[in-house]
Amino acid sequence: MNQSNFPSNARAVIIGGGVIGCSVAYHLSGLGWRDVVLLEQGRLTCGTTWHAAGLVGQLRAHQNMTRLVQYSAELYQKLEAETGQATGWKQCGSVLVARTPERVTLFRRIHAAARAQGVACEIISPKEAGEKYPVMRTDDLLGALWLPDDAKVNPADVTQALARGARQNGARIIEQTRVTAIHRKDGVATGVATSRGDIAAEIVINCAGQWAKQVGRMCGVSVPLHSAEHMYVVTGRIDGVHPNLPVLRDPDGYIYVKEEVGGLLVGGFEPVAKPWGMDGIPENFEFGMLPDDWDQFQILMENALIRLPALESAEIKTFMNGPESFTPDNNFIMGEAPELKNFYVAAGFNSIGIASGGGAGRALAEWIVNGEPTLDLWPVDIRRFAPFHNDDRFLKERVSEVLGLHYMMPWPNRELQSARPLRKSPLYQRLAAQHALFGSKMGWERPNFFAPSADEARLDYAWGRQNWFHSAATEHSATREAVTVTDLTSFSKYLLQGPDAEGALQRLCANDVKVPPGTTIYTGLLNARGTYESDLTVARLSTGLFLLVTGTAQATRDADWIARHLPASGATLSDVTADYAVIAVMGPRARDLLARLTPAPLGNAAFPFGAIREIAIAGATLWASRRTYVGELGFELYVPAGQAGAVYDALMLAGQELGVRNAGYYAVESLRLEKGYRAWGRELTPDYNPYEAGLAFAVKLDKGDFIGRDALLAAKGRPPARRLLSFAATSPDTPIAHGGELVLRNGEPVGDITSAAYGHSVRGIVALGYAATGGARVDDAWLAARFEIDIAGERVPVRASLKAPYDPAGAKLKA
Ligand SMILES: Cc1cc2nc3c(=O)[nH]c(=O)nc-3n(C[C@H](O)[C@H](O)[C@H](O)COP(=O)(O)OP(=O)(O)OC[C@H]3O[C@@H](n4cnc5c(N)ncnc54)[C@H](O)[C@@H]3O)c2cc1C
Repeated sequence: MNQSNFPSNARAVIIGGGVIGCSVAYHLSGLGWRDVVLLEQGRLTCGTTWHAAGLVGQLRAHQNMTRLVQYSAELYQKLEAETGQATGWKQCGSVLVARTPERVTLFRRIHAAARAQGVACEIISPKEAGEKYPVMRTDDLLGALWLPDDAKVNPADVTQALARGARQNGARIIEQTRVTAIHRKDGVATGVATSRGDIAAEIVINCAGQWAKQVGRMCGVSVPLHSAEHMYVVTGRIDGVHPNLPVLRDPDGYIYVKEEVGGLLVGGFEPVAKPWGMDGIPENFEFGMLPDDWDQFQILMENALIRLPALESAEIKTFMNGPESFTPDNNFIMGEAPELKNFYVAAGFNSIGIASGGGAGRALAEWIVNGEPTLDLWPVDIRRFAPFHNDDRFLKERVSEVLGLHYMMPWPNRELQSARPLRKSPLYQRLAAQHALFGSKMGWERPNFFAPSADEARLDYAWGRQNWFHSAATEHSATREAVTVTDLTSFSKYLLQGPDAEGALQRLCANDVKVPPGTTIYTGLLNARGTYESDLTVARLSTGLFLLVTGTAQATRDADWIARHLPASGATLSDVTADYAVIAVMGPRARDLLARLTPAPLGNAAFPFGAIREIAIAGATLWASRRTYVGELGFELYVPAGQAGAVYDALMLAGQELGVRNAGYYAVESLRLEKGYRAWGRELTPDYNPYEAGLAFAVKLDKGDFIGRDALLAAKGRPPARRLLSFAATSPDTPIAHGGELVLRNGEPVGDITSAAYGHSVRGIVALGYAATGGARVDDAWLAARFEIDIAGERVPVRASLKAPYDPAGAKLKA
């Protein structure tokens, strides 16, 4: 292209010509967008895409992530017919093998989850696995899985096919053109500067792979990713290896294997990765490779030799070491940047960019065209991060751990260990001294349970009861029978103030927040489809001042959503998360405890359920909110951070006679599930509306217009296609459920479990999960059917109900 026809305007500019950028270009132009321009600093595929192994494994931990790969698979199969460019698509299936009993249990869980997600999957014996993969050693194996729909492709060809399809749809693809700056005006992206001139654009999309962090920094947008070296070797021809061999994964040995020109491509995910690019990624890294590192590869090679004895004598023809970008939680990053309107990101693909590319490209294109995602993409939403995640030191440390997660056991309640502690509550030291075992969320250290001794403050992972079972049981019982104190400081907190604050909230919230000062309201924030963007508590502190309290993980997301829907003036949002500690005082003796510390009236008349009052404790003036997430009488105290320690000490001292204890998040989880309380990201997501979630009580259709109201009016008259149910095991001696399990009704799959725990009051599993209704009314007769959940292959009978498993008439709440 000569300079004269270099565009000066575009509707959308895509930065990066790897599989992701080309997929976004293909889908955006396919949705009818004209003037889509893709800019690539080198040549197409020259970043990470060209050297990918090309495995397309379909089953993912989250249903919608599986859907993205399923769509990629459909697309890659038909692209050649559509564009004339071959993709190397081969549906060869994949074999997964297990070396340990724990992995066999995992395979049984995966098998059930695959049914819930509609992915073909079979449990096979090691002998059958050996028949499918004759060059594999099987005598040390304990189990195997067969996924017949898994496939392999040629990544460069897929990308070229997407690019060709995009061109056919009218997109322009311009190589050898580097984006050097992002133009912005009033918080909105307006175009790019390039090595060949400026392009004004309505939308700018950062698909720059491992360069995406640098591109983000051009315009103040956090794209938290870091490169790590990722390696495989390719052998010469090996007897018995043929193009129809399935892909082989041996996660206990950290390796994957694929046939390549009659030899084997052997790669993997070593437990401790090798970060790369600490001084930034070089601009001129076109088709770049890193030096061979046999030391780093050793653990993979040793394990490959165990599984594939023929490797002993095979010739190693290629050692491929290429960098790929990884994110703090091993999920990729998509969406409109909260820092800059009209600037979108799709990057950080953690070694599954080829498999996810088709689906991710479509999802992002739909997000751009519709202004919001069309399905729940929370696991990959850019707003799950905050600016501190973009710190280079944090990322380097974290990425060393993240790469290995691919094949590590995905234990329930697994905690990452690297780059911690990051954010500490003012109570951290006090709780640590009492043997708190901390988990980490949004960087915050949060007490999960309190161990009897320092030695026992650890997590011993297992599928069954873990080492903290009895500690959590004690904390649970103390909450039901006496009183506990829980550090909930990590809650995200915002003040919304100004003369138009009430009006803005009425538009944002499905519940009616036009309430007198001193009142709290639980509400959903819905999108135009009437499904959940968030749920939170709104506390009216005075006429023009509201405290918004939302989940720890939603800090960036909710601030972004709320700020987008505020009027230009008259309502100001400020983040006060770090200014206030939150101390929950919960249990039948909670009022007695507070009464020992404050003269403020705490009785039902003066301080009813749902009220929020300013009171004084231990010299601190704080907000006490009478709400509960555990189903007991209780108060959440919002304490100025600097005084939190004094308030906590006073509570623990005054509570001694009342049997006060610390309680952690594991106890809270079982308490809330016994009461059927929903959690954002599990039961409440952009895939579900309040009627499906059973939260119609928090919707006020007659209060006037609000976001999502039209959709809810339409949905209200129809029986929901899915309904959230509470489940309780009928026996205490069942295996433990952790979430993700298949739900069956009269032997037929109807859904899956969103959250599960052991309920210590009801003595057995308690869980929540959505079940397809088939259009039926969910009444007692429908619920009386035979319900079971599949826990690693065992069908566990459960009672299904619209009511909470534990509900002694809700009496304690109101006491
Ligand atoms: C060894 C290895 C094996 C892998 N195997 C698999 C596999 O089997 N299956 C799988 O699904 N995934 C696999 N992956 C991962 C996969 O390769 C990546 O996830 C995927 O290629 C990422 O694509 P991308 O488009 O995001 O990035 P890239 O392919 O890196 O594309 C980004 C592009 O942006 C361009 N760019 C950057 N900055 C600018 C700028 N300022 N201006 C213009 N252009 C710019 C770059 O030149 C680059 O071409 C593997 C990765 C490695 C390293």
